[in-house]
Amino acid sequence: MYLVKQQLIDSLLEAARIVYPNEFICLIGSKQNNQILDDLVVVPAVYGDSYSFIHSHLVPIDPTIKGSVHSHPTQSNQPSTADKQAFQKLGSVHLIIGYPYTIDCIQMYDSQGNPIHFEVIQ
Ligand SMILES: [Zn+2]
Repeated sequence: MYLVKQQLIDSLLEAARIVYPNEFICLIGSKQNNQILDDLVVVPAVYGDSYSFIHSHLVPIDPTIKGSVHSHPTQSNQPSTADKQAFQKLGSVHLIIGYPYTIDCIQMYDSQGNPIHFEVIQ
């Protein structure tokens, strides 16, 4: 199970609101390289309407990067087929934030697209 810092959650929700109705896309990491997610990693082309905007050769090879985050312009936080394919390339933990971008709109998935539980810590 992963722990996510409240400050990171707040940043992600704010970013999702700002870029709406586009999708917000970024990578997330752990500064301590452990199970606590606390780092937002901005990648080239963070806004777009699909994951095709993240090109794996642009992503730095960094062991502190754990996975990805993106928002949906709809209330669905279920991964699409394209999302699941991207998850397999972009790390082990992935967040999808559905509209209207509150904490309850966030779902975490593993690299196969299976829902996993997370807790928010201060
Ligand atoms: Zn998606």
